[in-house]
Amino acid sequence: MPVESVFPRLEPLLPRVSKPVQYVGGELNATAKDWDDTAVRWALCYPDAYEVGLPNQGIMILYEVLNEQPDVLAERTYAVWDDLEQLMREHGVPQFTVESHRPVGAFDLLGVSFATELGYTNLLTALDLAGIPLHSTDRTDEHPIVIGGGHAAFNPEPVADFVDAAVLGDGEEAVLEITGIVRDWKAQGRPGGREELLGRLADTGGVYVPRCYDVDYLPDGRIERVVPNTDRAPERVSKATTMDLDEWPYPKQPLVPLAESVHERMSVEIFRGCTRGCRFCQAGMITRPVRERSAAGIGDMVQRGLDASGFTEVGLLSLSSADHSEIGEVTKGLADRYEGSGTSLSLPSTRVDAFNVDLANELARNGRRSGLTFAPEGGSERIRRVINKMVSEEDLISTVSTAFGAGWRQVKLYFMCGLPTETDDDVLQIAHMSHGVIRAGREVSGRKDIRATISIGAFVPKPHTPFQWAAQEHPAVIDERLRKLRAEINSDRRIGRNVGMRYHDGKPALIEGLLSRGDRRVGRVIERVWREGGRFDGWGEHFSYDRWVEACVAELEPLGVSLEWFTTRERDRTEVLPWDHLDSGLDKEWLWEDWVDALDGREQDDCRWVPCFDCGVCPSMGTDIQVGPGGRPLLPVDPVAHPDTPGQEVTAVSAPTRPWP
Ligand code: SF4
Repeated sequence: MPVESVFPRLEPLLPRVSKPVQYVGGELNATAKDWDDTAVRWALCYPDAYEVGLPNQGIMILYEVLNEQPDVLAERTYAVWDDLEQLMREHGVPQFTVESHRPVGAFDLLGVSFATELGYTNLLTALDLAGIPLHSTDRTDEHPIVIGGGHAAFNPEPVADFVDAAVLGDGEEAVLEITGIVRDWKAQGRPGGREELLGRLADTGGVYVPRCYDVDYLPDGRIERVVPNTDRAPERVSKATTMDLDEWPYPKQPLVPLAESVHERMSVEIFRGCTRGCRFCQAGMITRPVRERSAAGIGDMVQRGLDASGFTEVGLLSLSSADHSEIGEVTKGLADRYEGSGTSLSLPSTRVDAFNVDLANELARNGRRSGLTFAPEGGSERIRRVINKMVSEEDLISTVSTAFGAGWRQVKLYFMCGLPTETDDDVLQIAHMSHGVIRAGREVSGRKDIRATISIGAFVPKPHTPFQWAAQEHPAVIDERLRKLRAEINSDRRIGRNVGMRYHDGKPALIEGLLSRGDRRVGRVIERVWREGGRFDGWGEHFSYDRWVEACVAELEPLGVSLEWFTTRERDRTEVLPWDHLDSGLDKEWLWEDWVDALDGREQDDCRWVPCFDCGVCPSMGTDIQVGPGGRPLLPVDPVAHPDTPGQEVTAVSAPTRPWP
C-alpha cells in the first residue's frame, strides 16, 4: 500500500495556528529518503514542542546514525501545540513526520526520547493522533513498535502500559541492533507477528519489554517482586554503553532550526559520564563510566559541524565540561583558531574554582563578558557534605573574587531546596553566601555594579541515585523556606538590591517526583490527566497541579497508595524499587552505603583521581573510566579569522535549559 503524505490536508490548516513554520520541515541538513527503497523506517519523536525538540542531541545523533544506513529511513516528529491538535482532530489529520509528512502510524518503529518525565502526557497525544492504541496490549501487527529511550527510560514503569519496549543508556549502537532485528524479521515475512518481534528484542538482554514482566504487590502497597513471565526476558535488563566516542562523531551535520529554538548553536559532546558523585544527580550516576572524546576528535567535530551548518556559536557540552582532562588545550586551541572569526564558543560548566574562571577568560578573549555560573547547590557546609558537593564558602568567595578581578561583573549561583535532612538554616545560609559574593566583588573591583543572581530549583529524588530512598519535601515547606530566604537576602538592602532571586513554586517538582519514582500504577494517573486535557506539563502556563492531584486521588487511592506515598515517603533498605530489574551498572549495595554516608555527612571523592570505590559500573561492563590525555593535537591551529568579521562573542554558560519554568 502506498503511504501518502498528509501535507495536502495539513497545509490549509497552517495559517490558522501559531508558528506554522515548525511543522513544515526542510531544515538545512534534514534527510529525505525514498520510502519504497528502505527496509526499516523509524519515526523519532521528541514529545515536546519543535523549539525544544529540534536541538535535542539524542534525537539528532540517532537520526544521522540511522539515515547513514542505506536501507534505513529515519524521520522526526514533535508534539503539536493544542491549536493544531484541535484542527488535526477536526480534519482527521494524523500525527506526521516533518520530513515527508507521512503518518507516524505507517512507520515500523516509533522511537521516543524521554528527556523529562513531564513529557509523558505529550506522548499520549502523539500516539492518539497517530491512531496508535494508547496501550501496548491493544496494538496489532499494523502498528509501529513504540520504544522509549533517554534518561527517564531508566525507570519507564509509569509508562510501561504505553510503550512496547525501552532502551537504557546510549542509543548509537542500540538503534542499529534493533534495526537489524526488525530488518531480519520483516525479510523473513514477519514470523509470529508483533509478539515474536518483541520476543526477539527481549532476547537481546538490552531491550526492556515491560509486558514480559509481572509485578506483584504486598498488601501495604509496596512491590513484592518484579519477575519475567517468559524465558526470553532476562532477570535484569542491561544498559547500553558506547565506549569509544571518537568512533561515533555525531552529529556530523547538525540540523539547523527553521523556527526559534532553545539552543541556536551547534553542540559537541566532549565527554560522557561523570564520577564527581553528586548524590542528587541522576545524569552523573546513570552515564558512568567517564568516556572522553579526544582533543583531535573535538576539533574535527567543531570544524565539520560549523562548515555543515553555518552556526556561529559552538557549545562544548558534557555534565561538567571543565573536567575534561585536556580542556585547557581544547579551549586554547579553539579560541586561537576561531579568534576574530565571528564564531563564539561556550562551555557549560558550573565548577566553583579558579580554573573554571581561567577557561571562561580564555573563551572570552576579544569577546563580550556576560556572566559566569557556579553551582554550590547547597547553602550550608553541612548540606553540601550531605549532597557530596565539596565546595566551601571560602572556595566560592575566592573564585568569584578571581572572576570579578578579571573583569566579570555578574555571577549566577545555582542552588537546590528541599534536599534530604535540610533545615531552614541550611537555606538561609544562601543569603549569607550571596551577601559575601557581593561584598567580595565590590572590594576586588572597586565598583558598585556587581550582581549575583541566585537560581533555586526544588530537589526531586531520582532512581539509580543514592537519594532514591529519600523522602521528597512537600511544596508548601519549600515555598515557605524560599519566602524566608528572600526576606533574609533583603534584610540588608544595600547589598540585597544587587542580588536577584529566581525560583518557582515546588508543585511541578512533586509531580515530576511522582513520575520519576512511580511504578506501573502511576500510568493510570498519566492517562487520566491526559484525558482531562493535560498537555505540555513541562511548561508553566500549561501545567495544572490540581488536575494531577485530582487524578491521583481518583486513580491511586482506591489502590491503597497516593501521591504522597510515592513522593514524600522515605523507603527502607529492603523495599523492592520499581526499577530494580533495570541495571544501570550501579551496585544497589553501594548506592545504599552512599545514602547512609549522606545522612552522616560523609563525602566521597571522584574516582578519576582516587582509587576505585567499587560503585559497580566498570566491572559490570568489563571496562574502566577513560581519562586522557589523548596525546593527539587538537587541530592545526591556523586562525580562521576574517579581517572584516567582528570579534567573537563568548559566554561561559550554565546548565542546559529546559522549558520549565
Ligand atoms: S567502578 Fe570504580 S572506577 Fe568505575 S566508575 Fe565506579 S568507582 Fe569509578
